[in-house]
Amino acid sequence: MPSRTRHRFPICPATGLVRFGELKDARLALKEAARSRAAAKSDGTHSRRSEVRAFHCKSCRGYHLTKQRARSESRGVMMLG
Ligand SMILES: [Zn+2]
Repeated sequence: MPSRTRHRFPICPATGLVRFGELKDARLALKEAARSRAAAKSDGTHSRRSEVRAFHCKSCRGYHLTKQRARSESRGVMMLG
């Protein structure tokens, strides 16, 4: 089966985003993204890891990351810190 990503996590059919089963996994990924950004900044480059928020998805009952900063809620998602 062809794989375009190396993600360890499945993709949510509702959002097309990587699905984290637990909030702690989503938060860990956010920390990794933040670390990637910090490393790129110190190198004078730009990281593509721009996820800044985690939210709970009612469709898959998992958690996803988003690049969006706090915005009005849409499609029944709940923004988490
Ligand atoms: Zn989902």
